[in-house]
This record gives sequence, C-alpha cells and structure tokens, in this order.
Amino acid sequence: MVLLWLENEMVKFVFVTGGVLSSVGKGIVTSSIGKMLQIRGFNVTAVKIDPYVNVDAGTMNPYIHGEVYVTDDGGETDLDLGWYERFMNLNLPKENNITTGQIYEAVISKERQGEFLGKCVQIVPHVTDEIKRRIRFVAERSKVDVVLTECGGTVGDIEGLPFLEAIRQMRLEEGFENTLYVHVALVPILEVTGEMKTKPLQHSVNELRRIGIQPDTIVARCRDKIDFETLRKIALFGTIPEKAVFCSYNVSSIYQVPLILDEQGMGEYICRRLNLPGQKPKWSEWKRFVDAFENPRSEVKIALVGKYAGLVDSYVSMNEALRHGGAACQTRVLIDYIEAEKFEKNPSEVNVLKNYDGVFVPYGFGPRGTEGKMKAIRFARENDMPFLGICYGFQLAVIEFARNACGLDGANSTEVNPDTKHPVILLMPEQEGVKYKGATMRLGAHKVVVKKGTLAYRLYGAEEIYERHRHRWEVNPDYWKVLEEHGLVFSGKNPDGRRMEILELPNRFFFFASQFHGEFKSRPGKPDPEYYGFVKACLDRKLGKAKPEFKWIAR
Ligand code: GLN
Repeated sequence: MVLLWLENEMVKFVFVTGGVLSSVGKGIVTSSIGKMLQIRGFNVTAVKIDPYVNVDAGTMNPYIHGEVYVTDDGGETDLDLGWYERFMNLNLPKENNITTGQIYEAVISKERQGEFLGKCVQIVPHVTDEIKRRIRFVAERSKVDVVLTECGGTVGDIEGLPFLEAIRQMRLEEGFENTLYVHVALVPILEVTGEMKTKPLQHSVNELRRIGIQPDTIVARCRDKIDFETLRKIALFGTIPEKAVFCSYNVSSIYQVPLILDEQGMGEYICRRLNLPGQKPKWSEWKRFVDAFENPRSEVKIALVGKYAGLVDSYVSMNEALRHGGAACQTRVLIDYIEAEKFEKNPSEVNVLKNYDGVFVPYGFGPRGTEGKMKAIRFARENDMPFLGICYGFQLAVIEFARNACGLDGANSTEVNPDTKHPVILLMPEQEGVKYKGATMRLGAHKVVVKKGTLAYRLYGAEEIYERHRHRWEVNPDYWKVLEEHGLVFSGKNPDGRRMEILELPNRFFFFASQFHGEFKSRPGKPDPEYYGFVKACLDRKLGKAKPEFKWIAR
C-alpha cells in the first residue's frame, strides 16, 4: 500500500554496511528494518550488493557461500534475498542482487559499444554511476517508499570500495532527508572477564568515515544485551545521538529481531529521521507467528541427509520452511544434519534413522553422497517413515524406487553414471550441448499441474501451482510406465505433461517428493504446502494416527 501523502515524494534510501566481521547478521537487520517500516504502512524493497566478481551466486559451491537462493524470475542469488522475502513477504526480481561481475560486465559492454567514446573509463564515475543506476532502477521499477540496500562483506574490503563510494555519492544526490546509513558491527565479549569490547566497532566506524560515510545509526551485534554505558560509548565514538544506537542481541528465533529492535525505538527513529510519518506499528500478526514458533505443543525430529551437512547455511531456506511448517501445527522441528556419505562407509549406520520422525533429502549436485542418500530413502520407504525429497531428493527417490521396487538393477541418473544401464534420470533435452554453466539450468517459477484426488492435491488445494526450479536433469519418459506400474504416482506434471514434477506413494503414510523447491516460497505464517505436509505427517505418525490430517493453509 502506498500512502497517499507519500505520492510525489522522493524515494528514501537506507544503506546497511557491516563492520568487524562478516556474517554478523546484516541480512537479518536489513530485513528487520524492512519489517519495521512495512508494519507502519510503507512499501519497501531490498537490494543485496555482493562485491564478489561472480555475475551471480549460481556457480558457487554452497559450502563457500551458503545456499543459492532462487527467485521467481529465475535469478540465482545470495541467500539474503531469502531473508528479505521471508521477513517482508515479497517476491523479488533478480535485479535486487547486484554484484561486481554484473557491474563490470555492463560497463565494459557499454565501452565496447562506444558509449563512452573519447573517455578514459574509470571506477569513478563510470563504475559508480552504473551502481547508482541499478539501485535507482530498483526504486523506479518497484515503486516503493523505501529501498533498503545492504552492502555485503565488511567495510574495508577492497572489493566493496566502489559500492561504498557509490552510496556515499547518493547522499549528495538524494539529500540528507532521503538517505540513511546504518552500520552493523560486532561487539565481542571477552571470555575471561565477560567484558564487552567496543574497540573493533569503533575502528570499523573510523574506516567508514575514512571512505566518507558518517553512519546515522549503529546496530551493535552482541551475544548479550549491551548495557547503557557501553551503548553511550559507542554513540560518543561514533558521533551519533545515543538514541540512534541499538543492540541486536541473541534471541531464540531470528523472527524476534524486528521486535527487539523496534522496542528499542529503531523503527520510530528511522521514520523520524527520514521524515516518514507512519502509522502506529501493527505487530499483531507477526507476534502471532513468533508466539506459535516460540511456544510449541509438540516436537518432531527430522534427519536431513545431505551432502553439505557441515554448513547449515547450505540449507537455510529448507530449514526455515520446515520450521514454518512446524509453527503452523505448533510443533518444534529439530533438524539433525547427517552427511550422506556416512551411510556409504558403514551401511548399518542407516539404522540411526529409527531415532527420527521423518527423513528429508534435500537438493544436491554430482555423485558424492548419492548412494548414502538412497540408503536413507530406502530406509524411509521400507519402514514407512514420513519422507520428503526436494529436487535431487526427488530424482534419487525415483532411482531408489526403480532399483528396489521395480527391479531395475543399476538404475541411476546420467549425472552420476553416464553409462548406466537404466538411465531413469536423464539430462533434459534442451540441456544437451549447453556448455556455459552460468544461469543455464531450468530456473525460476514454472507452472505445475496437480492431479485431482492425490496427496499433492490435498496439500495444495489447487490444480495449478507455480513453483521455483533449479535443475538440469529430469525423469526419463521411457521409465514413467514401469515406475507407475509398480505404484509410484506422478501427481504433478508440467502443463504439457512431459515433465514429472511431483511423486508420491499412495500406500505409504507420507512419501512425497518434488522436482521443484517449495522452500523458496515458504513464509512465516504462510508455510509451503509440501513442507507443512511433511512436518504434520511426522507429527501425526509420532502421535500414532492412522493417516496424516492436514488443514489446508492458504498461501
Ligand atoms: N543435480 C540435479 C539436477 O541438476 C538436481 C539439482 C538440485 O537438486 N537443485 O537436475
């Protein structure tokens, strides 16, 4: 909703920088600022700047940079876009993730076209102009009141300098009242004395000033609540009013962060500083979700059997989607991350799955760990444990079924074994001959037609759904028949019916998998149906019910 009195007014720009360390929660602070503005009636969008040279996050190993987030329009982006979408219930376009690679690609292409004829092309102004143009493009396209821009990395990184220079210039061009710099930095606690140390934060503020940016507000990230004296010190050294320093301390769920920052007056401060006369904040809906999250009545334990189990950030959207599903049935979801290869080295290890209420096999690429994941899937199928497979998890469920239920020995995906006797999972025809790795998978939202009378239909309550994808392989049409003859039901297909999207086993309590990634559309209070269905099935199985009972939750 755009408030009337804001029409014809200028867009406000909030810039979030980070100090001391990366991964201090800038993404959550940015999302929380967005939420604080949204619940005061403002239209908001958020941009993530990633100063790396990759054009997008698509070719990065999740072990290095965490999960690759996928947008509706097929962008392969930084995982912070996921936080923005979840906190602010947005569907962002890929332009909201800006990288050095994109900027240089555009500037160099313009140079080759002769757009800068006669000029020496430089970081300032050509690169910085391109950065500003992209931030403003987001503002124009999304027609919002406020654009939040988060600069990835830490102040002082070489790669981040052109971006900080660009946002410094934006203050001059957009005006003081329309721009706000938020600096988020860590305040460590000394283990021995328990003392909170502000010196690293002070240094990062100095570094920011050296670049020409004086922060307007500081969010000190600390394990514990920071005492008043320490906050005063931060304000003094940072040359900002005391009421503009806030503390983001550890809370039991990240969805509480906007609440604790707003309690300290951050929402009000930002609105006043940007001259945004908002409504009274309406937190009731958000609080309802946080309460359901915080006060569960039951608990389920899920085994996530994956390849990137060592880094929780690899599965952040899946993790959140499972928890959103849990909150919808007042259930705490405990997730154990299990390296699939463990089951290959020691096959009897798979029996640990007995200690769980459900088995979850996530996305993945390449051969490593696939046999272990299939052992887990087989265990779930044969012991009738609730199972959810996503993307690679879907493909591996097909292979496991082909091998062990249809007797197709050696069945595999050509991704794992190009010479397999039974290539039940095959490269999609349009992928043949594709050499480039960047942005060439089947990406983004595509229509899926759901078959009536199936578990999928019960969960989605619709015959047509749009779900986000990121894959190159698919179920081989030559094997549909034999799989179905043995009891596998493909309950979701693409509109022309030549691409299998959802599978289920009707004779099991809950055995469900999808080629798409429902987790990218899951929101607090609006869980994704397949994740909700899985968690509810885990709960109902644990409670000894004969069948899972789903309440349809409108998205
Ligand atoms: N590797 C598989 C494919 O490309 C699955 C991808 C995924 O899990 N996102 O089709």
